[in-house]
Amino acid sequence: MQTDPTDLQRVWNDCLSLIRSSVTKQSFKTWFEPIVPLKLQDNELKIRVPSQFFYEWLEERYYPLIRKALAEILGQEVRLSYSICADDDSLPTPNPASSTRESPGSEDAAMIDRFHSNFTQGPVVTDSFLASQRVATIPVQAYGRMKGSLPAFKSSLNPRYTFENFIKGDSNQLARAAALAVANNPGGTSFNPLVVYGGVGLGKTHLIQAIGNQVLHQHKAKRVFYVSSEKFTVDFVNAIQRDTINEFSNFYRSMDLLIVDDIQFFAGKEKTQDSFFHTFNTLHQLGRQIVLSSDKTPKELEGLDERLVSRFQWGLTADIQPPDLETRIAILQKKSEEDKIELPQDVLEFVAANVTSNIRELEGCLIGLLAKASLENKEVNLDLAKEVVQTVVGNVKFHITIEGIQRSVCEFFDIAEDLVRAKTRKQEIVNARQIAMYLAKELTNSSLKTIGLHFGGRDHSTVIHAYQTVEDQMKSAPKFRDTVAQIRKKIELAAR
Ligand code: ADP
Ligand code: MG
Repeated sequence: MQTDPTDLQRVWNDCLSLIRSSVTKQSFKTWFEPIVPLKLQDNELKIRVPSQFFYEWLEERYYPLIRKALAEILGQEVRLSYSICADDDSLPTPNPASSTRESPGSEDAAMIDRFHSNFTQGPVVTDSFLASQRVATIPVQAYGRMKGSLPAFKSSLNPRYTFENFIKGDSNQLARAAALAVANNPGGTSFNPLVVYGGVGLGKTHLIQAIGNQVLHQHKAKRVFYVSSEKFTVDFVNAIQRDTINEFSNFYRSMDLLIVDDIQFFAGKEKTQDSFFHTFNTLHQLGRQIVLSSDKTPKELEGLDERLVSRFQWGLTADIQPPDLETRIAILQKKSEEDKIELPQDVLEFVAANVTSNIRELEGCLIGLLAKASLENKEVNLDLAKEVVQTVVGNVKFHITIEGIQRSVCEFFDIAEDLVRAKTRKQEIVNARQIAMYLAKELTNSSLKTIGLHFGGRDHSTVIHAYQTVEDQMKSAPKFRDTVAQIRKKIELAAR
């Protein structure tokens, strides 16, 4: 089997259409759009990917999906082989059909990579390239040379923020993996800049500082600097007032790794943005790593110059979502170990079930619990936990678990408990299972994914379907509504 290039592109496009329906939009954009099909021959499809990390990620997460899609389209099993962009300069330029993406991705990264290697070997950079990239007119070589003569400085990193004590979970998986890749090869991946975004207290600062700490741990001589966007702004304004703008610029542009936290605060500060834009360009041209955090995606950031936003999209934007129950439990466990306290399992689960919005609150509860226990000389138990959680998050739910719900529902319908987790499609079991899923969504803070997992590894769309079915039935059938209300009461009583 050998295909000509148009067939190849067609096969790949068909394959993408299949894949698109099974992954999220963001995953599709991040992991599939940048792939370029190169050759299909002897039951092997060769694809080009932008980096080693990208390859590993595909292998780990998406290999079966791609193979399945290919088998469906070609009617036979096809192996995948990879070509990693950065170390293969002789590759043909990508097929135009595959480069109609909205945001810059692998080719930009590859172009920039090539730009870097050209630069270090002696610049072969054309004016048109510079013009097309709107690069600042600073002689970048100067910063490369200046490095050695700069005075010592403090990285401003908090040594507490490391990868070791950053708990991995579904909610932070991509951001953490990308951060690790960057920490192990600063400036050398296509994730430049790496932008980590997510709500308050979800671990952005921790993660981006972990990169800095790891880089310094591995290479003491690297110039690593962490700064919040507010501090950058204040320093910039001071530099203007004191007429030390050269020192200011030189300092920032001498970094091997520059970490800027909470870039949303650059919004509306045009002059500061302008200065940061030039710093960014210089560092990027020199192949230095830039890591940013934000509470929104770059695109959603208002009051930020288009030029900056487009720069931010050169690399990888990875989100951190609120942690699911399992991750919250793991975080509490880790923190209590660090603080050398033993939390009884029921306290742990109670706090994790009720403090859901962010990790800072979770830590707040733990501290509150310890403080109260030692001040009032009380034991750390469920009652104390209820008091503390009440003050931190207000409205406390009962200590309800998915297992508890399953138990109550099955008792109510008098069916064996494992049946709600089994594959059976018998109507009465399906009914009970849907009610249990509905109540799990209503009464616990578990994610749809977690709920699905507790019901025999079903996926989140099954849970959504169950939820809607039950809700519809409750609207149309008062008797059904009473049944659900009765079961709910039973569960809440059992949880007291
Ligand atoms: P953000 O910058 O997103 O507002 P932080 O990085 O300040 O959040 O995190 C808040 C607190 O939660 C910090 O003390 C941090 O150490 C902790 N934290 C966040 N995520 C994790 C995690 N995955 N594992 C362990 N601790 C975490
Ligand atoms: Mg922060």
